[in-house]
Parts: sequence; structure tokens; C-alpha cells
Amino acid sequence: MQSKLLINGRLVAGEGASLAVLNPALGAPLLHINEASAEQVDAAVRAADAAFDGWSQTAPKDRALLLLRLADRIEAHAEELAKLESDNCGKPYASALNDEIPAIADVFRFFAGASRCLSGSAAGEYLAGHTSMIRRDPIGVVASIAPWNYPLMMAAWKLAPALAAGNTVVLKPSEQTPLTALKLAEFLAELFPAGVVNIVFGRGTSVGSPLVSHPKVRMVSLTGSVATGSNIIASSAASVKRLHMELGGKAPVLIFDDADIAAAVEGIRTFGFYNAGQDCTAACRIYAQKGIYEKFVAELGAAVGSIKHGTQGDASTELGPLITAEHRQRVAGFVERASAQAHIEVVTGGKAPAGDGFFFLPTVLAGARQSDEIVRREVFGPVVSVTPFDDEAQALAWANDSDYGLASSVWTSDVGRAHRLAARLQYGCTWVNTHFMLVNEMPHGGLKLSGYGKDLSMYGLEDYTAVRHVMFKH
Ligand code: NAD
Repeated sequence: MQSKLLINGRLVAGEGASLAVLNPALGAPLLHINEASAEQVDAAVRAADAAFDGWSQTAPKDRALLLLRLADRIEAHAEELAKLESDNCGKPYASALNDEIPAIADVFRFFAGASRCLSGSAAGEYLAGHTSMIRRDPIGVVASIAPWNYPLMMAAWKLAPALAAGNTVVLKPSEQTPLTALKLAEFLAELFPAGVVNIVFGRGTSVGSPLVSHPKVRMVSLTGSVATGSNIIASSAASVKRLHMELGGKAPVLIFDDADIAAAVEGIRTFGFYNAGQDCTAACRIYAQKGIYEKFVAELGAAVGSIKHGTQGDASTELGPLITAEHRQRVAGFVERASAQAHIEVVTGGKAPAGDGFFFLPTVLAGARQSDEIVRREVFGPVVSVTPFDDEAQALAWANDSDYGLASSVWTSDVGRAHRLAARLQYGCTWVNTHFMLVNEMPHGGLKLSGYGKDLSMYGLEDYTAVRHVMFKH
């Protein structure tokens, strides 16, 4: 397994503390890797800074070519990357191979094309005798910080737009799940000029913090928890760095009496429990209208109870483990506190199964109220709550009564209602009669505590550029 860091075009062993990297399905270490030392973090940023002039002046078509080659390399190593990802995250191998790797290769292909299509507004004379034009230029060194739930996908979402726009990058994957990013480092070392991309490994405190606060870093892009986002926002206030924050979520799912109930049940079974619910857009906060509530809860309980958990390589596995023992403890705590309330019914699941690994049974909690912790806070596990509602106005008010604003969905056969709600839901995305579907052409990003800035799409590319005015006197 490739366990070296990438600094200034060279793969080098970390010189900091040694950390265990686990297989969460067994709860056992896969290997130990040394973190980057403070000197290595500094060297990575300095390498990125030195490479910026050359990379930012590289023609878009040439930057695009390298991104396309990287996509080809990812596809050629699909099985190896999927194995590393599933071993390190616990997720089913088939999901990593068939769902994630093709989407990851496509992120690089999309941004390769997008880099050649970046446009400014037309030039013109806005003052007599002067011509103005707008440029969109790269920002400089970007520190990109990724989470553990989709490690390679999040690395791709960060690297592709930043590089396409002409920035140089120092990427830090999560200390829990570095293996695919470190494998990617091998391809990057072969394909890209030294210093354009650097990858350092380590914890938030020892490596992330000195990286984001480095004076040569001009922009910080984080996908992670609200707590880490707030921490980085506060610590970068004095240096006024550009920030891009993709934080937590608690997606409301509004299911009306006129919805296709079978499709809604199947949708929640899939999109509430994909990646063991460790997904910022997971369909986890369900509001079901009273006319179908009882039937919906019964059918959802039966469907979710049939989800099979297991190890990565078992082809019948649908649900993997949680990422760590601590995270499982946190998820179990939410479920215990919820189920201790008399009005909440544990329809299915509710506990960890016997055996190795950090598994938690897929769980449906019915009868939850708007004020309950389980409705208000992000659990980030295989747990959904269901709350009955009377009418559209109440469902909308409850859906928007949240600190989060990332994703939402509406399930109805009434097109007018779908439009009305889509216009009023305060979320970065609203799906109608589906959930969780992402395409690289469309933006992903939140409002409120879910953060700001867009991943994917032309908007994502623009986020990694600065708008500049250039004026010519005739
Ligand atoms: P986390 O915040 O614990 O860690 C994210 C990354 O930040 C890790 O690489 C970590 O080492 C680093 N980090 C921690 N403290 C830091 C500091 N002070 N300075 C610099 N870096 C620091 O999040 P996580 O547990 O890895 O991921 C789960 C969270 O991510 C959930 O809240 C989830 O909703 C969110 N998430 C959001 C999106 C989105 O698109 N909005 C996508 C995936 C995950």
C-alpha cells in the first residue's frame, strides 16, 4: 500500500507521529502511517507556492490534458482504488467500484472541459476613452481538507476545480481514510509538474491546523463538520483567507398523501442508508403526511429491516460499518436518547449487532417530534426519523426550521405543489420524487450551518477564481 506523502513532486515518508489506519469492518489496523512533520507541511505549501506561477500560466488546454490523463489513470486502476476505499471505509466493494470510481473519473473530465470554457463578461467602454475587461484568475495556493466518508470522491471534488482554474494545491485527506488519496499521489507525481499538487497526511490538530494557517495559503476549502468549519473560519479571520465550506446536513424528506408510497419507501431505503447513512445529504429527517403515515412507517420498517449488513467483499452486503468505534458510540447515543422518549417507537434496528467491526443496525424511529434532538441534529449514521404532519404549510415550516441547509426532497404527484415547495425550501438542493442524485454539471453546496461555496459545476470552478477588472486608457 502506498503510504508516502507527495511533496514537491516526490513521494516521501512522513516524519511525524505514527497513526493506525483501520479497517472498520473488522475494527483492526490495516497499516500504520507517519504524519507529516511541521517542516513537511511548510515544505508542501512552499512547493505549491513556487509552482503557482508556472501552473497558473499554463494554457487551459494543457491543464485539461493532465486532468484527462489523471481520469484515465483512475479508471485503469479502478479495482485497486475501489479495494483500498472499501477496505479503509468499510463500504461494500461493489459500491466503491461501480458507484464511486466512475463518478470520480468524471469529476476530473468535467473540470478538464470546464477549464477551457471559463468566461468573463464582455469587454466594453464604461468610461469615455477607456476599455474595461473582466478576468477570472486563479487565487494561489489552496489548502484542501477532506473528510472520511467518500475519501477519493471528496479529494476529486477539491482537486479538480482548483487545478482546472490554475491554482496549486496542498490536500489533506482525513487521518482515518488516507489510502486512496495517497495512491492518487503516485499518479499525480508522474503526471503533474512538481509542486502543483501536494498531499500531506495527518490529524486536524497536528497537520490540518498548521496547513490552513500557513501565510502562503490563500484559500481554504473544507468538507467536514460544522465544528471544524467554525474553527477554521475563526482561525483564518486575521489573515482574511478565501474560504469554501461544505459542512453538515440534516436533509428533510417531505412525503405527501398523494406520493407514490412504494417509490418513497424504496427511495428512503436506498438514500437514507447509502454509505451507512454517513452522507451529508442522507434522506434522514422524514415528514410523512397523516393520511399515509401508518402505512408508510410499516412499509419503511419492513424495507429497512431487510437491509443486509456485512463485510466489504461479500456481494450481498448493502450496509457497511460506521467509520470508528467512537462514531458508533455517538450514533448509539442519539438512538438511546431518542428511544427513551415515550412518544418514539423503534420500528426496526436501534442497536449494534453482535460481532466484530463498528456496525450499527439500520434504524427507523417513528413518532419523532419537531423539537426532538433526533430531528434536529446530524446523526451521520444509518438512522432515520419519521414525523407525521397535517398539511403542506406545516411540512414546509418544519422542513425549514433547521440549522442546516444542504439538501431536501419532496415526494408528491402534484406538480404545482412540487414547484411551490421547491421555491420555498431553504436548501442548496431540492429533489422531487428522488433524493441524493448528483451530476457533475450541477452545483452541490449548502446554506446556513451547511456552509457556503459550491462543489461541482461551473459555479464550483468559479469559486476557485478571483474576478478581476483590467482597464485600458485609449
Ligand atoms: P471533521 O470535521 O471531523 O474532519 C474533516 C477534515 O478536517 C479532516 O481531514 C480533519 O482532519 C480536518 N480537521 C479537523 N480539525 C481541523 C483543523 N482545526 N484545521 C484543519 N483541518 C482540520 O469531519 P469528518 O468527521 O471527517 O466528516 C464528517 C462531516 O463532514 C459531517 O459533518 C458531514 O456532514 C460533513 N460532510 C459534508 C459534505 C458536504 O458536501 N457538505 C460532504 C461530506 C461530509
